[in-house]
Amino acid sequence: MSVRQLNQLQDCDLEIESTDKLSALATAKLNENEELRRAKALLAKSQSELDALLKLQKENDWSISDITGKMTVANESLYSGRVRNPKELGSLQQELESLKKQRDPLEETAMGYMEKIEDTQKRIKKFEDDLKSLESRLGAEHKSLHLQIEELTVKLAQLKEGRKKIILAIPPEELNFYAEIKTRRGIAVAKIDKGTCGRCRISLSSAELQKARSGKMAQCSSCSRILYFE
Ligand SMILES: [Zn+2]
Repeated sequence: MSVRQLNQLQDCDLEIESTDKLSALATAKLNENEELRRAKALLAKSQSELDALLKLQKENDWSISDITGKMTVANESLYSGRVRNPKELGSLQQELESLKKQRDPLEETAMGYMEKIEDTQKRIKKFEDDLKSLESRLGAEHKSLHLQIEELTVKLAQLKEGRKKIILAIPPEELNFYAEIKTRRGIAVAKIDKGTCGRCRISLSSAELQKARSGKMAQCSSCSRILYFE
């Protein structure tokens, strides 16, 4: 009679399942890290903000140097002595003033960009530092996760070796029966606990109890699991 071996097989299978689960969990943790993803996203966002600001700053600077160039030309004409006509001189002066009026707000904008760029650069530096320290912390965590996975893999291989030995002692039709109930119920063997099925908790008839006690293959009439009398 191999109910004892079936129970042994079940203990082994349950341990294999839980080891598998732990290993999958550690692997998932190793591969996905929300914290790291967020830190990288923050850094990338600030970097693209900086790129956009630098582009705007460049465009603004071009406008300023364009106007400055025109002002230089007007200034030279005004003070070169070549233009004597008061009307022309007046219009040059007017042009200079109007150019200055165009340039002043652009210069203010330039100051604003400089401040924003400085702030963004500071922020990027902070995010880079945060990311670096997170990566070094995760490095230690990852090391221990790799170690854990390695240990679980060894344990799993040992359990599977043990399982092979256990099933050698079980007749194939009983193995099939076990597998069939396991597929349906998750747990195939139920220990008898104070006259009840240890899984569904129903009281067992004296006939069922006697059958199980004698070592014969007895099934719970309620959940159909194989009853095991320890
Ligand atoms: Zn039951």
